[in-house]
Amino acid sequence: MTDMMNNKHVRVVVRTRPTTRFASQAIEIIPDKNIVNIHVPKPEDAGFINNQQSDWSFKFDKLLHNVSQDAVYEECGTPIVRSLLDGYNGTLLAYGQTGAGKTFTMTGATENYRHRGMIPRAISQVFKEIQARPQYAYTIRISYLEIYNENMIDLLAPVGQSADMAVVEDKNGCYVKGLSQVIATNEEETLNLLFEGETARSVGDHALNRSSSRSHTVFTIHLESKSRVDSSDDVIFSKLNLVDLAGSERLAKTASSGKTLKEAMFINKSLTFLEQVIIALADKKRDHVPYRQSRLTNVLRDSLGGNCNTLMIANIWGEADHLEETISTLRFATRMSCVTNEPVVNVQYDPMTLVKKQEREIKELRQEL
Ligand code: ADP
Ligand code: MG
Repeated sequence: MTDMMNNKHVRVVVRTRPTTRFASQAIEIIPDKNIVNIHVPKPEDAGFINNQQSDWSFKFDKLLHNVSQDAVYEECGTPIVRSLLDGYNGTLLAYGQTGAGKTFTMTGATENYRHRGMIPRAISQVFKEIQARPQYAYTIRISYLEIYNENMIDLLAPVGQSADMAVVEDKNGCYVKGLSQVIATNEEETLNLLFEGETARSVGDHALNRSSSRSHTVFTIHLESKSRVDSSDDVIFSKLNLVDLAGSERLAKTASSGKTLKEAMFINKSLTFLEQVIIALADKKRDHVPYRQSRLTNVLRDSLGGNCNTLMIANIWGEADHLEETISTLRFATRMSCVTNEPVVNVQYDPMTLVKKQEREIKELRQEL
């Protein structure tokens, strides 16, 4: 059993983007204690923040400052993937303003092996773990969803064949009906699906003249496992969502009209709803959790406060120009760390299992007679 399973609150890890213009006057990072202290100059000096409070202190599960992709993966990816193989759902979310390093963290610089992000590393670990467990038969399916202005886009749909999609819930949790789930049998095939999806996304960005920082993407590894040695026919389902969220910056300040304003409203709304869901969960008002208010929260319904190990990486950009966004990200991250989840193994009973079990028992009883 890994630590993750006992760790029921959403783990929050803060990662800083490296910069030579670090605002050391305003931001103090204490990595050993996982603390970030921020001192905002008085409004008359700075004039950009109309908040009374000028000193902030934040503490998180882990603070990753000047840390390699490898170390980030070890902290954030390894336990969640191991737990995926044990049958638990997992969600890894990257949150933060545009430019703070969400895509670098999740996908990374794929042309440089050392800079690969969490998604390629998770894929690699999944196939390694599978090889180490020959007593199980695994099926892996991949889906890749983009949410843009409340529209769902299937990034793995065959060209021109996008189906209508809807979030539905059954006894195995919730899933997006109509979203392609492509079977992948090895690491290379899975990486190709990631690239295929990214290409589809950038083609869409170009055609629709939009920026990828304005949409959310959810890359999901669906795992199905069945024992080869056990006489039981139980099938275990689990999935891992790897989420690159839209930029959290408040675009409304600069967006004045037309499409940008519409985008800003949608992004702000979905992240606000994400926050509302989180606050409701933290308050234990589980009857009133407003999952259905946005696509994003609806898709992640069983990954937030549900049957899931959830980890959020809050990416921050510690330059003076971004102080306000940094505080806003760290406040969001603090609220997130109050959410609790209830991960359980998802065993689905094959309808034949009971019949076979009874037949076995009858046989045994006969032998005893
Ligand atoms: P976001 O997706 O949050 O908008 P990006 O991941 O695109 O931000 O990062 C913005 C830029 O900063 C990119 O050029 C990226 O390569 C670089 N960057 C971000 N984080 C790191 C890091 N930890 N190490 C090196 N470069 C980084
Ligand atoms: Mg990005």
